[in-house]
Amino acid sequence: MSEQVSLWIDGKEVRVAPGATIYWAAKSLGIEIPHLCYGEDLPAMSSCRLCVVEVEGMRNLAASCSMPVAQGMKVRTDTDRVQKARRMNLQLILSDHAVECITCEKSGSCLLERYAYEFGITESRFTGPRWEKNRHDVDESSPFLVRDYNKCILCGRCVHACAELQYDSAIDYSARGFKARISTPFGRPLTDTTCEFCGRCIGVCPVGALTEKARRKQGREWELAVTSTICPYCGCGCTLDVHTKAGRVVKVTTHSRDTVNRGNLCVKGKFGIGFLDRPERLTTPLIRRDGKLEPASWEEALDLVSRRLGGIKAAHGPDALAGLSSAKCTNEENYVFQRFVRGAFGTNNVDHCARLCHASTVAGLAKAFGSGAMTNSIAELRYADCIFVTGSNTTEAHPIIGLEIKAAVEKNGAALIVADPREIDLVRYARIWLRHRSGTDVALLNGLMHVILAEGLEDSAFISARTEGFEAMRAAVAAYTPERVESITGVPRETIVQAARLYAGAERAPIVYSMGITQHTTGTDNVLTLANLAMITGNIGKPSSGVNPLRGQNNVQGACDVGALPNVYPGYQPVTSTEAREKFQQAWGVPLSAEPGLTAVEMLHSAGEGKIRGLYIMGENPFLSDPNINRTRLDLSRVEFLVVQDIFLTETAGFAHVVLPATAFAEKEGTFTNTERRVQLLRRVKAAPGEAREDWRIVCDVATRMGHPMSYDSASAIMDELARLTPSYGGISHRRIERFGLQWPCPDQAHPGTPILHEERFTRGRGLFHAVEYVPAAEEPDNDFPFLLTTGRILYHYHTGTMTRKVEALNEMRPAGVVEINPEDAESLGCADGSMVEVTSRRGAVTARCAVSRRSRPGSVFMSFHFAETAANLLTNDALDPVARIPEYKVCAVRIQNAGR
Ligand code: SF4
Repeated sequence: MSEQVSLWIDGKEVRVAPGATIYWAAKSLGIEIPHLCYGEDLPAMSSCRLCVVEVEGMRNLAASCSMPVAQGMKVRTDTDRVQKARRMNLQLILSDHAVECITCEKSGSCLLERYAYEFGITESRFTGPRWEKNRHDVDESSPFLVRDYNKCILCGRCVHACAELQYDSAIDYSARGFKARISTPFGRPLTDTTCEFCGRCIGVCPVGALTEKARRKQGREWELAVTSTICPYCGCGCTLDVHTKAGRVVKVTTHSRDTVNRGNLCVKGKFGIGFLDRPERLTTPLIRRDGKLEPASWEEALDLVSRRLGGIKAAHGPDALAGLSSAKCTNEENYVFQRFVRGAFGTNNVDHCARLCHASTVAGLAKAFGSGAMTNSIAELRYADCIFVTGSNTTEAHPIIGLEIKAAVEKNGAALIVADPREIDLVRYARIWLRHRSGTDVALLNGLMHVILAEGLEDSAFISARTEGFEAMRAAVAAYTPERVESITGVPRETIVQAARLYAGAERAPIVYSMGITQHTTGTDNVLTLANLAMITGNIGKPSSGVNPLRGQNNVQGACDVGALPNVYPGYQPVTSTEAREKFQQAWGVPLSAEPGLTAVEMLHSAGEGKIRGLYIMGENPFLSDPNINRTRLDLSRVEFLVVQDIFLTETAGFAHVVLPATAFAEKEGTFTNTERRVQLLRRVKAAPGEAREDWRIVCDVATRMGHPMSYDSASAIMDELARLTPSYGGISHRRIERFGLQWPCPDQAHPGTPILHEERFTRGRGLFHAVEYVPAAEEPDNDFPFLLTTGRILYHYHTGTMTRKVEALNEMRPAGVVEINPEDAESLGCADGSMVEVTSRRGAVTARCAVSRRSRPGSVFMSFHFAETAANLLTNDALDPVARIPEYKVCAVRIQNAGR
C-alpha cells in the first residue's frame, strides 16, 4: 500500500491517501467546505469557486474539490480572504438565479438557499438579467421532470451525471454568457433524446432547477417523512428512499451509499411507485354473487374460502387443490404460503412465476454446480476483463446491472460480447455482437467451445482439479465446427472464432444471461451449455467471473429460496427426501406429501382438465403472464373455486370467486432477496388502503380455519422460523440486515454472507459438464406462419403492467404495445411505421401498431408482454422445457398482415 500523505488543515494534522483532494481531507476531519458544482460522485469541475481555500505558499486561492493534497501542505478553510471570495462568488451565482424560495419545491434542501442563509446574503450586487422575472422558459415537456431555466446556476452537475454516471449524453451546455443553458441536442424535447429518465440529474441538482413533476405542490421538503425500502420491480434490488406526506408518496430518491444501486435508479424505481395511491386499489374483500364481485366482510370471505377449499379437499383429495405464490411478495409471505399449501392443503402443488422465467436456471445450474443462483455479485461486473452477455436486454430489464456493464466498458476498458438476435442497447458498447437466430443458443455456445478446445485455450488445470464429465462434453462439441454453427445460427464463422478467443483469453470473464436463454423448450440445455463454457475457461469461483442469471422480479430469487416450488422445501431441500420431510413435519406438526407437485402452467392445464378444482393465487396474474391466453382463459374459467389475493383487480381476479385485498411492498415489513442472493429489509412506508391486509396474515387466517393453525407475531418472527429450517438462511435475521443486506449462503449468526459461490469447491463437489446437443425450437417459421415472434420487456413497464400501467407518466411514455418489425419486412408487407398489423399464430391473433426498426432481425418480430390490449401471450406457445417445465416464450411462428388502419 502506498504511503499516506500528511498535511495540516486549520491547524489540525490529517493523513490521507495520495491523490486525495483537499476537500476530502477536510471532510475526514469533519470540516464541511461549501460547494455547488461539485457532487461527491462526480468529477470536479471547479466552476462555482465556493470551495476555495488558502494554501500556504500559493498566491491564488485553490479550489479544494480538485486540488490534490501534498506532503506537508498547510491549508486554511475559514480565513477572511476565503470568506470574502466565497461571498463574492455566491453573489455572482445569485445574479443569474431567480430567487423564488417561497414557492420553490427545493426550498429546504437547496444548497444555494442554504449558503445564502449561512453567508447572510439577501441580494446580489451583480444583479443580472435573470432577476427579470420569468425571463427563461420552464421546460415541462417530459412526463417525469421539470427543468426551470430561471433557477439553473449552470453548475453542470446534471450534464456530468448524465455522461459519467449514466453513460448517456442526453444533455449538454449550449450558448454563452447569460444565454448559456443546459440543453438537449438541437433543443429537442427530452422525450426525443436518449434520456431514459433515471432521474439522476434531479438527484445531483443542488438548486430548484430540476424537480420531479409529480411532487409539485405536494409538500415542502421539511414536511416529508423519508423511509428506506426496496424497489418492487426488477431483481436488481435497489434501495428507494420514499418521501411521503400524510401517507401519500411525494417522491423517491436514493443515495450513493446504497449497497446495490449506489445512487442510481431506473425510471420505474424513481418515478413508478405512484400506483400505491391509486383509487383502483382493492380495499375490501369481494365475493362473487350472481356472477358479480361484491364487497364483503373479512369474516365472511375467510369463512367462505376455508369452507370451499376444505370441501374440495374432503371430496376430491389434497391434490385437487393448488396454490400460486408470488415473486412480488416477501420471503416471509412466500414461506408462509408454501407452508399453507403443504400443511393445510396437504399437497406440493405450489409454484410461482419463477417457472415462467428462470426455472431452467434453477434446474440447470443445480445440475452443473449444485446451486441454481447467480454465482457472483453485481458490483464485481465493472472489474471484469470481458463480459459475455447473452439473452439479456440488460439496460431495459435490469437497468442498474446494465449500468455496471457500461461502467466496465466505458471506465475500465472491458471487452463486451453480446449474443442476441435483437440489436439491444448494449450492442452499442459491444466489441463483438453475435446476432444468432432465436432458439439456436446451444449451437452457438457449442461452437464457441469447439474453437476454444481446438485452439487449446481451455483452462486444463481448472478442468482436471475442479470438474467431471469433461470428455463427454468435448466429444459433443467436436461436431460444432464454426462452419456448421454458422449455418445453424447465421453468425459468420470468423465472428464465432473471434468471440471464442476474446472470451477465453480474458482472466476475468463473467457470463450474464436472462430470459433469452431460459424461456425455451431447450432452456435447461441452454443453461447447462453456459455452465460448460464457464468451466472450460476456469471462469467460476473467483471475483468478476461466474455464471450470472439475472432474476426477473424483485423477489423471484427469494420465492425460490423459501420453497415456493413444487419439488423442494425452503433451501431447496427435496420433498422426496425422507430426512427433509421429517424435519418439516416436525416443525409444522403436520404430515406432508412426498410427491412433487404440479408446476405453474401444469396447474392451469390440470384445472382445464378438471383435476385441479380449487386454486389460490397470491399476487400473480397468470391470465396475462402464461403462454397461450386462449387456453388459460378456458382453464381459469373451469376452476371450481378460485381465490385471488392481490392489490388490484387484475385480469386473473376477474375470474375469481373470492378476491382478498392485500398490501403492497411499501405497506409492510419483510425481506426481498435480489438476483445476487442478497437478502434485504423492506420497511413500512405508509398505511395500507382500506381494509387491505398483509398477505401472510391473510394466509395464516385461512390455514388456521382449514385446521392447520399458523400464527406469527411479525414478519421478523417468520424469518426466524425460516432461518431455523433453511441452512443457507441460517444466519439471517431482520436485526442483522437492518443496514446492509446479507448474501446467502449465510449459515450462522457470525457468518458474513457469501458474495462469490463455488470458490473452493462446487456446492455439489465437482462441477459437472454436460454433453448437450442442439435441438430446434418447438415451433419454427414455415409457409403458413413465416415470421418468428420473440417476446420480452421494455424499460417503462413491468411484467403484466399491474403496477406500471397505473402510473400516468409511464403510460404517457409508452401507452401501448407495438410490433417491432425490420424495415425490409415492413416494406414487403406494405406497412409503414405506426400502421396497424395483425399478428396471428396457431393459438390466437393480436392487432397492434407496428414500429419499424432495425433492432429486429429480418424475418423476426418482437412484442412486449405488458399490455392486456395487445397481449403477446395470445400468440406464444405453451410447449414446455421437459426438465424445468418452462414455456417457450422466446420462439413461436406467426403470420403478419397489414391491418390497413
Ligand atoms: Fe427498481 Fe430494478 Fe429499476 Fe432498480 S433497476 S430501480 S430495482 S426496477
